[in-house]
Amino acid sequence: MGRQVLIIGGGASGMTAAIFAARAGAAVTILEHKDRVGKKILSTGNGRCNFTNRDQRPEYYHCSRPDFPCRVIQQFPFEDTLDFFQGLGILPKERNGYFYPNSNQASSVLDVLRFEAEGLGVRVVTECHVRKIQTVTDGQERNVQKAVAVQEGKIRAAGRFVIETDKGRFRGDALILAAGSKAASVTGSDGSGYEIAKSLGHHIIEPLPALVQLRCREKDYKQLAGIRTEGRIRLYISGQQGPEWKLAAEDRGEIQLTDYGISGIPVFQVSRYASEALHKHRQVKAVIDFLPQLTQEETERLLADRLRRAGAAGVVGYAKTARRESGIPAEDCGTEGRGAEGHGTEGHGTEGCGTGGCGTGSRGRALGQTCEQFMTGLLNKKLCLALLKRAQISANAKTEEIPADRWKSLLRQIKAFETHIIGTNSFEQAQVCCGGVDTAEVNSESMESRLVRGLYFAGEILDVDGICGGYNLQWAWSSGAVAGKAAAGGRQPHAEERRKAPEN
Ligand SMILES: Cc1cc2nc3c(=O)[nH]c(=O)nc-3n(C[C@H](O)[C@H](O)[C@H](O)COP(=O)(O)OP(=O)(O)OC[C@H]3O[C@@H](n4cnc5c(N)ncnc54)[C@H](O)[C@@H]3O)c2cc1C
Repeated sequence: MGRQVLIIGGGASGMTAAIFAARAGAAVTILEHKDRVGKKILSTGNGRCNFTNRDQRPEYYHCSRPDFPCRVIQQFPFEDTLDFFQGLGILPKERNGYFYPNSNQASSVLDVLRFEAEGLGVRVVTECHVRKIQTVTDGQERNVQKAVAVQEGKIRAAGRFVIETDKGRFRGDALILAAGSKAASVTGSDGSGYEIAKSLGHHIIEPLPALVQLRCREKDYKQLAGIRTEGRIRLYISGQQGPEWKLAAEDRGEIQLTDYGISGIPVFQVSRYASEALHKHRQVKAVIDFLPQLTQEETERLLADRLRRAGAAGVVGYAKTARRESGIPAEDCGTEGRGAEGHGTEGHGTEGCGTGGCGTGSRGRALGQTCEQFMTGLLNKKLCLALLKRAQISANAKTEEIPADRWKSLLRQIKAFETHIIGTNSFEQAQVCCGGVDTAEVNSESMESRLVRGLYFAGEILDVDGICGGYNLQWAWSSGAVAGKAAAGGRQPHAEERRKAPEN
């Protein structure tokens, strides 16, 4: 008979681990504390499930040991993920490298996983709450918690597990812990997996919300709420000692302004850096460029031209002043125009104005325009009004009444809108967590614990987080497949692997 594999957590990684373990001949039981498996999968990709991405790079995955995620993913890469899901019946749909099921329904992804697990005879026990985990050594049941205390983490249990739950006792030769993180606990990942890992002797790197909205200090967000606009966000973190700012991350795409701060995919992409920095009591600020498709000079020319036609003062000479005032180096001030940018999800736009003077088209502009009229058509109307206000320009004033320095200030608001980040939204609103089980205690070849033989990990419970774009699910599928196969095969680490531990 095959090995008995127990899996705690029936999410993306747990379901994948179950399928690969069962395909390798193991008798698999999933213990899931919710009333059904895979709840989080249903909410992914706005209900459409962005399940992987063609563009795979090491820098899209974060971990305290940077090469750990890729060591795992290369054992079950993007191509294997596509084959796997196509084999299960998913017709994939690709958009700019992002993969979704052609049904546009995340439920299809969960359904095919469920059908396959069922077909392979995987037992699923729902509403099952774990009370205690024991290992069996030499025929005796031993409480792992006590053993860890006595042996100070050097435990190498014999590899049989007895799990006591409110639905009875379950025995297994291997245990895969796939209980997720603390993000979106309504879907089941309530952080209890970390406690189980700790009880087995593992260390947890403090979990923090990642892929999450950022809360800002400024008072005018109530006025800004509801605006969605293209932009480039640059996130700066203060130095340990004081005020020098360092660029930590940047991204471009649709930014959403809310009544508490900023959201949208580009904000999510930089949010983990804000989360970590705030946790270390550093200061964090974001600088947003609301016209990322134009360079600083092009924007300056555009405004100068609109002002000329409206009969008001020019804004020439803004750029140098703005850089001096902001304290941000020139290359971070948007003057380079179309330079390298983060992993923007859309609009790596190069559709700037060309060299022929921006906005000098046929649109006639009458003298005596109000500032609101002057801004009309440039950006979202509500945003225009808010930017005018921040620049201390009255929307009803005539353009010719406004002194040149105010126009410089407006240009600065458009190209380098500064906002101070004072927090993130909660774990509940985060899509993933950074932090988790320390990967120094896990073998990347097998996902087996280095502390407890027969214990494996998969998915977000580990200290691995990906950027937005299908990378977190890719991590769940890859780590689940590797853990499932290894747990079923009872693969022991090679002597050489043991010698070279810890990795990195
Ligand atoms: C709103 C939202 C949208 C997202 N969209 C995407 C996307 O489009 N693409 C992408 O790649 N990623 C996306 N993610 C992230 C992705 O869904 C997760 O990274 C991934 O599902 C993690 O899989 P997992 O198996 O590790 O954990 P989970 O999917 O969280 O599964 C953990 C399971 O374990 C169970 N469990 C927890 N503790 C216990 C316990 N003590 N006993 C028994 N069972 C337990 C839980 O109930 C749950 O079923 C999104 C996340 C959210 C919240």
